Amino acid sequence: MQSFNPPVRTLMGPGPSDVHPRILSAMARPTIGHLDPEFVRMMDEVKQLLKYAFQTENEMTMPVSAPGSAGMETAFVNLVEPGDKVIVCINGVFGMRMKENVERCGGVAVLVEDDWGMAVSPEKVEAALQANPDAKIVAFVHAETSTGACSDVKTLCEIAHKHDCLTIVDSVTGLAGVELRVDEWGVDAIYSGTQKCLSCTPGLSPISFNERALHKVRNRKTKVQSWFLDLNLVMGYWGQGAKRTYHHTAPVNGLYALHESLVMLKEEGLENSWARHAAMHEKLKAGLTELGIKFVVDEAVRLPQLNSVWIPEGVDDAAVRAELLNTYNLEIGAGLGALAGKVWRIGLMGFSAKEENVLFCTSALKKVLGK
Ligand SMILES: *Cc1c(COP(=O)(O)O)cnc(C)c1O
Repeated sequence: MQSFNPPVRTLMGPGPSDVHPRILSAMARPTIGHLDPEFVRMMDEVKQLLKYAFQTENEMTMPVSAPGSAGMETAFVNLVEPGDKVIVCINGVFGMRMKENVERCGGVAVLVEDDWGMAVSPEKVEAALQANPDAKIVAFVHAETSTGACSDVKTLCEIAHKHDCLTIVDSVTGLAGVELRVDEWGVDAIYSGTQKCLSCTPGLSPISFNERALHKVRNRKTKVQSWFLDLNLVMGYWGQGAKRTYHHTAPVNGLYALHESLVMLKEEGLENSWARHAAMHEKLKAGLTELGIKFVVDEAVRLPQLNSVWIPEGVDDAAVRAELLNTYNLEIGAGLGALAGKVWRIGLMGFSAKEENVLFCTSALKKVLGK
């Protein structure tokens, strides 16, 4: 056995995205105790910076010490009690995981389904709420990474609130890549991930819960089924001002990385980050269109950071991706679920959303496709 030295790749898949050297070097700084006053000070800054990224004043804004899937699970295990009816919108892989979460919490999932590649239909959600006046929560994915479709968070939250429901929003791929305004849009509970448009290393899941959502968490009739993800306990560790009580050992160096990525987001400016993702998408679109490659998602609801494109007729999906990886050290994503074998998913997330990557990807594809 020897030290592991990974190849240097360009990551243009559905995540992880390229990690900026500043973030990698932040991670290599000396590990200190997770209750060290200096570490606690940094945790407070991470919370501050996350509030900026989410555009929220929610006190309960912090990173869960595990990847995006744990953020998803945190939202469901804390907010869904046995018997609760939850409207779950499914327009791709991650909506299906939400359904699985609801059921594992003993909840009843009412499905609102849209075709893969489409945004969640507000009309269908309205109809589902009218048919299910006892529903308590509406859950949907903002940025569906399996297809590249963006749903209208603001409108969906308005509809949910009109029917007195809380909202759970998955913005693992949305955060920092497209407009997201948690307070203004009335999101009650949201989770994200570090390895997509924040361009940080994988393994942490920023979440934010508002007072309405926390009221439900504090007044549950049953204990949260997960000890580790129970916000009633986690709040004692991440809570503002209060003396920190040991809950688990925070991933110290991973949090240095998240801190650095959020400082970089603040330096760039959130709206500039959204604009950069949009501009890089336009450049990629121009390059792919020249190669005759077509997009899966309608332009009106297309995510700039996740580009699903149809694999051209007669082209071997796996062979092309293997050649891109082996010859060019370039990773693009395969299709998932219903789109497996039919599409490629080209990510322009975070530090990966830059002009040199767009040019590299389009020229490598051109070579490999033999144009
Ligand atoms: C990536 C992703 C997740 C899961 O995040 P992990 O960090 O892989 O656990 C959840 N939802 C969406 C929309 C994602 O893109």
